[in-house]
Amino acid sequence: MSKVILVTGGSGLVGQALQHVLNDTESDPAFRAQPDETWHFATSKEADLRCPEQTRQLFEKYKPTHVIHLAALVGGLFKNMSHNLTFLRDNIRINDNVLSSAHDADVTKVISCLSTCVFPDEKGLRDLYPLTEQKIHIGPPHPSNFGYSHAKRLVDIQNHAYKQEFGRNYTSAIPTNVFGPYDNFDLRDSHVIPGLMHKAYLAEKSGTVFQPSGSGKPLRQFIYSRDLAKLFVWMLRNYDDVEPVILSVPEEQEVSIEYVVDSVVKAFQKNRASTDPSKPFDVKIEWNRAAADGQFRKPASNEKLATLLKESGVQFEFTPFEQALHETVDWFVKNYDSART
Ligand code: NDP
Repeated sequence: MSKVILVTGGSGLVGQALQHVLNDTESDPAFRAQPDETWHFATSKEADLRCPEQTRQLFEKYKPTHVIHLAALVGGLFKNMSHNLTFLRDNIRINDNVLSSAHDADVTKVISCLSTCVFPDEKGLRDLYPLTEQKIHIGPPHPSNFGYSHAKRLVDIQNHAYKQEFGRNYTSAIPTNVFGPYDNFDLRDSHVIPGLMHKAYLAEKSGTVFQPSGSGKPLRQFIYSRDLAKLFVWMLRNYDDVEPVILSVPEEQEVSIEYVVDSVVKAFQKNRASTDPSKPFDVKIEWNRAAADGQFRKPASNEKLATLLKESGVQFEFTPFEQALHETVDWFVKNYDSART
Protein backbone atom coordinates (compact mmCIF):
# COMPACT_ATOMS: atom_id res chain seq x y z
CA MET A 1 0.00 0.00 0.00
CA SER A 2 1.43 3.40 -0.90
CA LYS A 3 1.99 5.84 1.93
CA VAL A 4 1.44 9.59 2.16
CA ILE A 5 3.55 10.80 5.07
CA LEU A 6 3.03 14.18 6.70
CA VAL A 7 5.93 15.45 8.83
CA THR A 8 4.98 18.23 11.23
CA GLY A 9 7.87 20.46 12.32
CA GLY A 10 9.48 19.85 8.93
CA SER A 11 11.68 22.98 9.10
CA GLY A 12 13.32 22.22 12.46
CA LEU A 13 16.51 20.39 13.43
CA VAL A 14 14.97 16.91 13.19
CA GLY A 15 12.67 17.74 10.23
CA GLN A 16 15.63 18.99 8.19
CA ALA A 17 17.60 15.87 9.07
CA LEU A 18 14.71 13.74 7.82
CA GLN A 19 14.70 15.65 4.53
CA HIS A 20 18.45 15.03 4.21
CA VAL A 21 18.24 11.30 4.99
CA LEU A 22 15.31 10.76 2.60
CA ASN A 23 16.51 12.86 -0.33
CA ASP A 24 20.30 13.22 -0.28
CA THR A 25 22.02 10.99 -2.80
CA GLU A 26 24.93 10.57 -0.35
CA SER A 27 22.74 9.19 2.41
CA ASP A 28 22.29 5.46 3.10
CA PRO A 29 19.95 4.02 0.39
CA ALA A 30 18.15 1.90 3.02
CA PHE A 31 16.63 5.03 4.54
CA ARG A 32 15.95 7.04 1.38
CA ALA A 33 12.39 7.79 0.27
CA GLN A 34 10.83 4.78 -1.49
CA PRO A 35 8.83 5.02 -4.74
CA ASP A 36 5.62 4.12 -2.85
CA GLU A 37 6.14 6.94 -0.32
CA THR A 38 5.10 10.58 -0.77
CA TRP A 39 6.55 12.88 1.90
CA HIS A 40 5.24 16.33 2.89
CA PHE A 41 7.07 18.60 5.34
CA ALA A 42 4.88 21.17 7.09
CA THR A 43 5.99 24.31 8.94
CA SER A 44 4.19 26.72 11.26
CA LYS A 45 3.77 29.12 8.33
CA GLU A 46 1.57 26.62 6.57
CA ALA A 47 -0.49 25.79 9.66
CA ASP A 48 -0.27 26.89 13.26
CA LEU A 49 -0.95 23.57 14.93
CA ARG A 50 -2.15 25.29 18.10
CA CYS A 51 -5.26 26.10 16.07
CA PRO A 52 -7.70 23.16 15.56
CA GLU A 53 -9.08 24.52 12.26
CA GLN A 54 -5.66 25.14 10.68
CA THR A 55 -4.59 21.65 11.75
CA ARG A 56 -7.72 20.11 10.25
CA GLN A 57 -7.12 21.98 6.98
CA LEU A 58 -3.52 20.75 6.83
CA PHE A 59 -4.72 17.16 7.10
CA GLU A 60 -7.42 17.81 4.51
CA LYS A 61 -4.82 19.25 2.12
CA TYR A 62 -2.34 16.36 2.23
CA LYS A 63 -4.62 13.46 3.20
CA PRO A 64 -1.81 11.60 4.99
CA THR A 65 -1.91 7.91 5.74
CA HIS A 66 1.03 8.29 8.16
CA VAL A 67 2.31 11.15 10.34
CA ILE A 68 5.67 11.84 11.93
CA HIS A 69 4.80 14.50 14.48
CA LEU A 70 7.85 16.60 15.36
CA ALA A 71 6.32 20.07 15.78
CA ALA A 72 6.64 21.44 19.29
CA LEU A 73 7.46 24.56 21.20
CA VAL A 74 11.09 23.69 22.02
CA GLY A 75 13.55 25.70 24.10
CA GLY A 76 16.63 25.65 26.27
CA LEU A 77 16.69 25.46 30.05
CA PHE A 78 16.15 29.16 30.80
CA LYS A 79 13.21 29.67 28.46
CA ASN A 80 11.58 26.53 29.89
CA MET A 81 12.13 27.67 33.47
CA SER A 82 10.48 31.03 32.90
CA HIS A 83 7.68 29.85 30.57
CA ASN A 84 6.38 26.55 31.96
CA LEU A 85 2.75 27.51 31.37
CA THR A 86 3.36 28.48 27.72
CA PHE A 87 5.29 25.25 27.07
CA LEU A 88 2.50 23.26 28.71
CA ARG A 89 -0.41 24.93 26.92
CA ASP A 90 1.12 25.29 23.45
CA ASN A 91 2.36 21.72 23.36
CA ILE A 92 -0.86 20.25 24.75
CA ARG A 93 -2.79 22.11 22.05
CA ILE A 94 -0.40 21.13 19.23
CA ASN A 95 -0.40 17.46 20.25
CA ASP A 96 -4.14 17.22 20.80
CA ASN A 97 -4.92 18.88 17.47
CA VAL A 98 -2.51 16.63 15.58
CA LEU A 99 -3.75 13.41 17.17
CA SER A 100 -7.45 14.24 16.85
CA SER A 101 -7.05 15.41 13.22
CA ALA A 102 -5.12 12.22 12.48
CA HIS A 103 -7.90 10.13 13.99
CA ASP A 104 -10.64 12.06 12.14
CA ALA A 105 -8.70 11.65 8.86
CA ASP A 106 -8.29 7.91 9.52
CA VAL A 107 -4.49 8.09 9.59
CA THR A 108 -3.02 4.60 10.07
CA LYS A 109 0.06 5.50 12.08
CA VAL A 110 1.30 8.53 14.02
CA ILE A 111 4.76 8.63 15.57
CA SER A 112 4.98 11.57 17.96
CA CYS A 113 8.30 12.84 19.22
CA LEU A 114 8.69 12.98 23.00
CA SER A 115 11.96 13.65 24.82
CA THR A 116 13.88 12.12 27.72
CA CYS A 117 12.69 15.20 29.70
CA VAL A 118 9.44 13.26 30.17
CA PHE A 119 11.14 10.94 32.64
CA PRO A 120 10.86 11.45 36.39
CA ASP A 121 13.37 13.43 38.35
CA GLU A 122 15.78 11.25 40.32
CA LYS A 123 14.82 12.85 43.65
CA GLY A 124 13.16 10.34 45.96
CA LEU A 125 13.25 7.50 43.42
CA ARG A 126 15.50 4.50 43.85
CA ASP A 127 16.78 2.47 40.92
CA LEU A 128 15.55 5.03 38.39
CA TYR A 129 18.56 4.61 36.11
CA PRO A 130 18.86 3.50 33.44
CA LEU A 131 15.65 5.08 32.17
CA THR A 132 13.45 2.64 30.29
CA GLU A 133 10.16 2.95 28.42
CA GLN A 134 8.27 1.63 31.49
CA LYS A 135 9.41 4.45 33.79
CA ILE A 136 7.79 7.51 32.19
CA HIS A 137 4.98 7.98 34.68
CA ILE A 138 6.47 6.73 37.96
CA GLY A 139 7.21 10.15 39.45
CA PRO A 140 7.09 13.89 38.68
CA PRO A 141 9.50 15.29 36.05
CA HIS A 142 12.34 17.68 36.83
CA PRO A 143 10.81 20.99 38.05
CA SER A 144 12.80 23.14 35.60
CA ASN A 145 10.69 22.10 32.57
CA PHE A 146 7.63 20.47 34.08
CA GLY A 147 5.31 22.23 31.59
CA TYR A 148 7.02 20.83 28.48
CA SER A 149 7.48 17.42 30.14
CA HIS A 150 3.86 17.00 31.22
CA ALA A 151 2.59 18.05 27.78
CA LYS A 152 4.84 15.41 26.20
CA ARG A 153 3.83 12.74 28.75
CA LEU A 154 0.20 13.33 27.87
CA VAL A 155 0.91 12.17 24.30
CA ASP A 156 1.71 8.71 25.66
CA ILE A 157 -1.54 8.77 27.66
CA GLN A 158 -3.49 9.86 24.56
CA ASN A 159 -1.88 7.14 22.45
CA HIS A 160 -3.05 4.50 24.92
CA ALA A 161 -6.53 6.05 25.04
CA TYR A 162 -6.79 6.12 21.21
CA LYS A 163 -5.82 2.45 21.25
CA GLN A 164 -8.35 1.55 23.93
CA GLU A 165 -11.27 3.47 22.48
CA PHE A 166 -10.61 3.27 18.73
CA GLY A 167 -7.95 0.56 18.24
CA ARG A 168 -5.44 3.10 16.86
CA ASN A 169 -1.72 2.26 16.79
CA TYR A 170 -0.45 5.77 17.49
CA THR A 171 2.93 5.67 19.18
CA SER A 172 5.87 7.82 20.26
CA ALA A 173 9.65 8.00 20.07
CA ILE A 174 11.80 9.30 22.94
CA PRO A 175 15.11 10.80 21.77
CA THR A 176 17.90 11.91 24.09
CA ASN A 177 19.67 15.26 23.41
CA VAL A 178 19.73 15.90 19.65
CA PHE A 179 22.27 17.98 17.71
CA GLY A 180 23.16 18.55 14.07
CA PRO A 181 22.85 20.94 11.11
CA TYR A 182 19.90 23.39 11.32
CA ASP A 183 19.96 23.36 15.14
CA ASN A 184 19.09 26.45 17.13
CA PHE A 185 22.45 28.10 17.91
CA ASP A 186 20.99 31.02 19.85
CA LEU A 187 23.34 31.92 22.72
CA ARG A 188 20.63 32.20 25.38
CA ASP A 189 18.05 29.72 24.22
CA SER A 190 19.86 26.74 22.76
CA HIS A 191 20.66 23.22 23.92
CA VAL A 192 24.15 22.41 25.18
CA ILE A 193 26.04 21.47 21.97
CA PRO A 194 24.83 24.25 19.65
CA GLY A 195 25.29 26.76 22.51
CA LEU A 196 28.90 25.64 23.06
CA MET A 197 29.61 25.73 19.33
CA HIS A 198 28.37 29.29 18.99
CA LYS A 199 30.30 30.44 22.09
CA ALA A 200 33.54 28.84 20.86
CA TYR A 201 33.07 30.34 17.40
CA LEU A 202 32.55 33.87 18.74
CA ALA A 203 35.38 33.64 21.29
CA GLU A 204 37.89 32.65 18.62
CA LYS A 205 36.62 35.28 16.23
CA SER A 206 36.91 38.08 18.78
CA GLY A 207 40.10 36.80 20.47
CA THR A 208 38.37 36.40 23.85
CA VAL A 209 38.23 33.34 26.12
CA PHE A 210 35.74 30.53 25.53
CA GLN A 211 33.77 30.21 28.78
CA PRO A 212 31.76 26.99 29.14
CA SER A 213 29.51 26.93 32.23
CA GLY A 214 29.68 24.50 35.16
CA SER A 215 32.14 21.85 36.26
CA GLY A 216 32.18 19.92 32.98
CA LYS A 217 31.54 16.73 34.97
CA PRO A 218 27.87 15.93 34.13
CA LEU A 219 27.31 13.10 31.67
CA ARG A 220 24.85 13.06 28.75
CA GLN A 221 23.85 10.88 25.80
CA PHE A 222 23.69 12.73 22.50
CA ILE A 223 22.15 11.57 19.25
CA TYR A 224 23.06 13.01 15.85
CA SER A 225 19.96 14.42 14.14
CA ARG A 226 20.65 12.41 10.96
CA ASP A 227 20.86 9.15 12.96
CA LEU A 228 17.62 10.06 14.69
CA ALA A 229 16.02 10.75 11.31
CA LYS A 230 17.01 7.27 10.08
CA LEU A 231 15.46 5.76 13.19
CA PHE A 232 12.20 7.62 12.52
CA VAL A 233 12.15 6.18 8.99
CA TRP A 234 12.85 2.73 10.42
CA MET A 235 10.05 3.11 12.99
CA LEU A 236 7.62 4.26 10.33
CA ARG A 237 8.30 1.19 8.23
CA ASN A 238 8.80 -1.43 10.95
CA TYR A 239 7.15 -0.56 14.27
CA ASP A 240 3.45 -1.18 14.92
CA ASP A 241 2.87 -0.84 18.63
CA VAL A 242 1.56 1.90 20.92
CA GLU A 243 4.35 1.62 23.48
CA PRO A 244 7.10 4.23 23.07
CA VAL A 245 10.68 3.47 22.01
CA ILE A 246 13.71 5.32 23.40
CA LEU A 247 15.90 6.43 20.47
CA SER A 248 19.37 6.77 21.90
CA VAL A 249 22.97 5.71 21.65
CA PRO A 250 23.90 2.98 24.18
CA GLU A 251 24.45 3.95 27.82
CA GLU A 252 28.18 3.29 27.44
CA GLN A 253 28.33 6.23 25.02
CA GLU A 254 27.50 8.82 27.68
CA VAL A 255 30.04 11.64 27.46
CA SER A 256 31.02 14.35 29.93
CA ILE A 257 30.41 18.00 29.12
CA GLU A 258 34.17 18.49 29.43
CA TYR A 259 34.66 15.92 26.67
CA VAL A 260 32.04 17.71 24.57
CA VAL A 261 33.86 21.04 24.98
CA ASP A 262 37.21 19.53 23.94
CA SER A 263 35.60 17.76 21.00
CA VAL A 264 33.83 20.94 19.84
CA VAL A 265 37.15 22.82 19.81
CA LYS A 266 38.81 19.94 17.92
CA ALA A 267 35.98 19.99 15.37
CA PHE A 268 36.55 23.72 14.78
CA GLN A 269 40.30 23.09 14.44
CA LYS A 270 39.65 20.37 11.87
CA ASN A 271 37.26 22.64 9.99
CA ARG A 272 39.79 25.49 9.90
CA ALA A 273 42.57 23.16 8.81
CA SER A 274 40.53 22.26 5.75
CA THR A 275 39.18 25.76 4.96
CA ASP A 276 42.02 28.14 5.94
CA PRO A 277 45.16 26.23 7.04
CA SER A 278 47.12 29.49 7.33
CA LYS A 279 45.00 30.56 10.34
CA PRO A 280 44.68 27.71 12.88
CA PHE A 281 41.61 27.80 15.16
CA ASP A 282 43.04 28.85 18.50
CA VAL A 283 40.92 29.55 21.56
CA LYS A 284 41.59 29.60 25.30
CA ILE A 285 39.09 27.68 27.45
CA GLU A 286 38.27 29.12 30.88
CA TRP A 287 35.50 27.29 32.73
CA ASN A 288 32.90 29.36 34.58
CA ARG A 289 32.80 26.81 37.39
CA ALA A 290 30.51 28.92 39.59
CA ALA A 291 27.59 28.22 37.21
CA ALA A 292 25.08 25.48 38.12
CA ASP A 293 25.56 22.00 36.63
CA GLY A 294 22.02 20.63 36.35
CA GLN A 295 21.40 16.89 36.77
CA PHE A 296 24.64 14.88 37.02
CA ARG A 297 23.45 12.17 34.66
CA LYS A 298 20.20 10.66 33.39
CA PRO A 299 21.23 7.62 31.37
CA ALA A 300 18.63 6.03 29.11
CA SER A 301 18.65 2.41 27.99
CA ASN A 302 18.53 1.70 24.27
CA GLU A 303 18.00 -2.03 24.78
CA LYS A 304 14.48 -2.07 23.35
CA LEU A 305 15.67 -0.21 20.24
CA ALA A 306 18.67 -2.52 19.77
CA THR A 307 16.46 -5.63 20.06
CA LEU A 308 13.85 -4.29 17.65
CA LEU A 309 16.48 -3.23 15.10
CA LYS A 310 18.00 -6.71 15.21
CA GLU A 311 14.60 -8.39 14.83
CA SER A 312 13.75 -6.18 11.84
CA GLY A 313 17.00 -7.14 10.08
CA VAL A 314 17.78 -3.47 9.30
CA GLN A 315 21.46 -2.54 9.39
CA PHE A 316 21.94 0.62 11.43
CA GLU A 317 25.05 2.16 12.97
CA PHE A 318 25.33 5.35 14.99
CA THR A 319 27.64 7.97 13.50
CA PRO A 320 30.74 8.35 15.70
CA PHE A 321 30.25 11.38 18.00
CA GLU A 322 33.35 13.22 16.72
CA GLN A 323 32.32 12.78 13.08
CA ALA A 324 28.81 14.06 13.83
CA LEU A 325 30.26 17.09 15.65
CA HIS A 326 32.59 17.75 12.75
CA GLU A 327 29.73 17.65 10.21
CA THR A 328 27.70 19.99 12.42
CA VAL A 329 30.56 22.47 12.83
CA ASP A 330 31.18 22.41 9.07
CA TRP A 331 27.51 23.20 8.49
CA PHE A 332 27.47 25.93 11.18
CA VAL A 333 30.54 27.73 9.82
CA LYS A 334 29.28 27.54 6.24
CA ASN A 335 25.76 28.69 7.14
CA TYR A 336 26.49 31.12 9.96
CA ASP A 337 24.62 34.01 8.33
CA SER A 338 21.39 32.06 7.84
CA ALA A 339 21.55 29.74 10.88
CA ARG A 340 19.32 30.31 13.91
CA THR A 341 21.74 32.32 16.04
P1 NDP B 1 13.03 22.85 16.35
O1 NDP B 1 12.80 23.93 17.35
O2 NDP B 1 14.28 22.84 15.58
O3 NDP B 1 11.81 22.83 15.33
C1 NDP B 1 10.50 22.92 15.79
C2 NDP B 1 9.59 22.68 14.64
O4 NDP B 1 8.24 22.76 15.13
C3 NDP B 1 9.72 23.73 13.54
O5 NDP B 1 9.53 23.11 12.30
C4 NDP B 1 8.57 24.67 13.83
O6 NDP B 1 8.06 25.32 12.66
C5 NDP B 1 7.52 23.70 14.34
N1 NDP B 1 6.53 24.37 15.18
C6 NDP B 1 6.72 24.99 16.37
N2 NDP B 1 5.57 25.53 16.80
C7 NDP B 1 4.63 25.22 15.85
C8 NDP B 1 3.25 25.51 15.72
N3 NDP B 1 2.57 26.21 16.64
N4 NDP B 1 2.60 25.08 14.61
C9 NDP B 1 3.27 24.37 13.66
N5 NDP B 1 4.56 24.05 13.74
C10 NDP B 1 5.24 24.48 14.83
O7 NDP B 1 12.81 21.48 17.13
P2 NDP B 1 13.58 20.10 16.96
O8 NDP B 1 13.65 19.73 15.53
O9 NDP B 1 14.80 20.17 17.81
O10 NDP B 1 12.56 19.13 17.72
C11 NDP B 1 11.74 18.20 17.02
C12 NDP B 1 11.07 17.34 18.05
O11 NDP B 1 12.06 16.65 18.81
C13 NDP B 1 10.23 18.12 19.07
O12 NDP B 1 9.03 17.45 19.30
C14 NDP B 1 11.09 18.14 20.31
O13 NDP B 1 10.31 18.23 21.47
C15 NDP B 1 11.82 16.82 20.20
N6 NDP B 1 13.10 16.72 20.89
C16 NDP B 1 14.12 17.59 20.61
C17 NDP B 1 15.34 17.45 21.26
C18 NDP B 1 16.50 18.36 20.98
O14 NDP B 1 17.56 18.19 21.63
N7 NDP B 1 16.40 19.31 20.04
C19 NDP B 1 15.56 16.39 22.28
C20 NDP B 1 14.44 15.51 22.43
C21 NDP B 1 13.26 15.69 21.77
P3 NDP B 1 8.66 26.77 12.19
O15 NDP B 1 10.07 26.53 11.77
O16 NDP B 1 7.79 27.15 11.07
O17 NDP B 1 8.56 27.65 13.39
